[in-house]
Amino acid sequence: MYTRVFRFAPSPNGYLHLGHAYSALLNDDMAREVGGRLLLRIEDIDLARCRPEYEAAIYDDLAWLGISWQRRVRRQSEHFDDYEAALAKLEAQGVIYPSFESRSEIDALVAERDRHGPWPRDPDGVPLYPGRGRKVTRAERERRRRAGEPFALRLAMDAAVARTGVLTWTESGAGPQGQTGLVVAAPQMWGDVVLARKEVPASYHLAVAIDDALQGVSDVVRGQDLFWSTSVHRLLQALLGLPEPVYHHHRLIVDAQGRKLSKSTQAKSLRELRAAGATAADIRRMVGLGR
Ligand code: GLU
Repeated sequence: MYTRVFRFAPSPNGYLHLGHAYSALLNDDMAREVGGRLLLRIEDIDLARCRPEYEAAIYDDLAWLGISWQRRVRRQSEHFDDYEAALAKLEAQGVIYPSFESRSEIDALVAERDRHGPWPRDPDGVPLYPGRGRKVTRAERERRRRAGEPFALRLAMDAAVARTGVLTWTESGAGPQGQTGLVVAAPQMWGDVVLARKEVPASYHLAVAIDDALQGVSDVVRGQDLFWSTSVHRLLQALLGLPEPVYHHHRLIVDAQGRKLSKSTQAKSLRELRAAGATAADIRRMVGLGR
């Protein structure tokens, strides 16, 4: 029998809050409802921000919430070779290139472009890559890489889209404007996204596309803030010949000011709520999953 596979994929760069609890509980509920499996993935490619004590707290908080997940847990930092293999495939297709501008050079280029009318931003509000990395000759790229210069590997978006043609995904939740059912992917809104850097062989987009495929994930259930990222994931899946999961983007838990919970908005962690006497059933009620 075909078993559906769900996953919860937190980054261990802080303690889990109610937003994470909602996502994890919803994944667990949906998996149970269809007799599926729930996997856990630790998204720790950004080694500078991730810490072992946050990872330990994730296991503890999830167990306290009554969630059980299948072993083994996939920890992204242990699979850099998988991401490198994918980058080699994309390189062979001629759809990635290194760019060598520093962050401040990019900022200056954006400021310059903005003077001629607003330079486009991606769905997260970050300016699209304005640089000329694609124009750098092969010999020059090789020379700079051999010299040890820092670089970012970027997707040549137009070339990638030309290879795959129009892509769609099946949305069983809803996007920020209520999009549901068959959604047309719009990866161009991200420009030439970064897929890896000299010191980190994968960005979020690359790692998530590879891991969902390698873990056999059939159902991606995650927050609405990642809705448009799905366009990039679908593009990478098509380029790399990976299967296409069904997507379910869920509402976000917001604070009294309507802001998405995060460390920067000082959202209370599950551990703080627990220390203050909350039970797992209280957490369920607080995120609107109470029975
Ligand atoms: N690691 C991401 C986060 O914590 C979630 C990635 C995903 O579900 O695709 O926001």
